[in-house]
Amino acid sequence: MKQSSSCNLRQQQPEMLQSFEHENFFSGRCVLVNGPVIVGAGPSGLAVAAGLKRQGVPFIILERANCIASLWQNRTYDRLKLHLPKQFCELPYFPFPDDFPEYPTKYQFINYLESYAKHFEISPRFNESVQSGKYDETCGLWRIKTVMIPGAGDGDEDEDGSNSVIEYICRWLIVATGENAEKIVPEFEGFNEFSGNVIHACDYKSGEDFEGKRVLVVGCGNSGMEVSLDLCYHNAIPSMVVRNSVHVLPREILGKSTFELAVSLMKWLPIWFVDKILVMAARLILGNLEKYGIKRPKTGPLQLKNREGKTPVLDIGTLKKIRSDKIKIIPFGIKKFFRNGVEFINGQFLEVDSVILATGYCSNVPSWLKENELFSEDGFPKCEFPNGWKGKAGLYSVGFTRRGLSGASFDAIRVAKDIGQIWKQELNQKNQAVVVTCHRRSKSHC
Ligand SMILES: Cc1cc2nc3c(=O)[nH]c(=O)nc-3n(C[C@H](O)[C@H](O)[C@H](O)COP(=O)(O)OP(=O)(O)OC[C@H]3O[C@@H](n4cnc5c(N)ncnc54)[C@H](O)[C@@H]3O)c2cc1C
Repeated sequence: MKQSSSCNLRQQQPEMLQSFEHENFFSGRCVLVNGPVIVGAGPSGLAVAAGLKRQGVPFIILERANCIASLWQNRTYDRLKLHLPKQFCELPYFPFPDDFPEYPTKYQFINYLESYAKHFEISPRFNESVQSGKYDETCGLWRIKTVMIPGAGDGDEDEDGSNSVIEYICRWLIVATGENAEKIVPEFEGFNEFSGNVIHACDYKSGEDFEGKRVLVVGCGNSGMEVSLDLCYHNAIPSMVVRNSVHVLPREILGKSTFELAVSLMKWLPIWFVDKILVMAARLILGNLEKYGIKRPKTGPLQLKNREGKTPVLDIGTLKKIRSDKIKIIPFGIKKFFRNGVEFINGQFLEVDSVILATGYCSNVPSWLKENELFSEDGFPKCEFPNGWKGKAGLYSVGFTRRGLSGASFDAIRVAKDIGQIWKQELNQKNQAVVVTCHRRSKSHC
């Protein structure tokens, strides 16, 4: 095993890290972190890191990808813009540039995040995937094991070519791995027999490759709707499976962002009443969508979001294409795949060339965090917003509020303040102890 990397670490961030080796401890390196370990360098991880920097608390960020904000850089389509107006997407302490449009493109948002990381001098440790995180009762510290992602090529592979394991030991663990860490890929009968191309929406970049192709989009959330629209723009022939009911709202009502309007109304009115207003406005502006096969849930859009985390679709032009039959809606579930197409539960058969699974994402926290008090089995905090950010024994969560970037910022500010306070208190106590010791020593010298 190479020893040099631990030394490099110390050279890079001497105030943050101490490392030591222990042969029989486990088969890898061990790094003692003076401060918290943040897992994930997406917007949530960056926001909490910025807060800690401002408080003078050292930390490290572990990121499995080779860049910050990997969801935005690697797993989103080219045409994506922020779904919500920019004022709801800004991270703490660092505004968007003045010339940003109301709905910044994904590239503008990525640039902003790059500037954010640069401004706060945040340097994550890339290509390190956290495999387990466990609280060690005996020493009262968190033990976090990572493996280097193959092909990282930064010299951290072992001499035998295998990837090295590192164990980080720290007092605070901040989970910022995101609500969308893993794609959900449903299983369908006969799926293996289908001869066409199948991808998840996270691997879809643009409709360029689908020109003239019959494409089945499975799922009708914001991703499914926007992918279908993009396919239309590239002269593909999309059909969208809309098996469940879904709230589709106009992105703007009377020139004002629907989201902003909802936030303002909720300051004065109960949520059920705001829901009624939103559904009525949607009906007036978008018309009755049932005739196209899109059913509205009985529970209102905001209540549904709060209870089940289901985000309403904000329409950016897909409905127009559905009305003009450029996008076909299939209001039935999939029964079975065949070599050249798919059969639905109503017996209808559709020939398709490709399938895009806009079937969503899930949290990966249960796969690596050995803890069951803060997080539940679905990988989200058990306590609802705004109470799910802090667990026991120095465990924190950022970005699992089902409230997008504004929820992540809210968590990040609270977590950084909480750790910052403890950090400063302890620093003061240490300084006082040093003063007292010096005082005693100088007295005894007299
Ligand atoms: C297509 C799309 C559009 C969205 N648009 C908006 C919007 O307009 N406005 C809004 O407010 N919200 C939006 N959201 C929701 C949300 O704000 C974003 O998902 C945002 O990126 C969440 O930030 P995050 O840091 O919590 O998670 P992520 O951005 O997912 O970052 C988590 C990071 O953790 C890393 N990671 C995961 N597991 C591990 C591990 N085991 N070890 C090491 N690293 C790990 C990942 O690689 C990733 O880089 C959108 C979501 C999607 C999917």
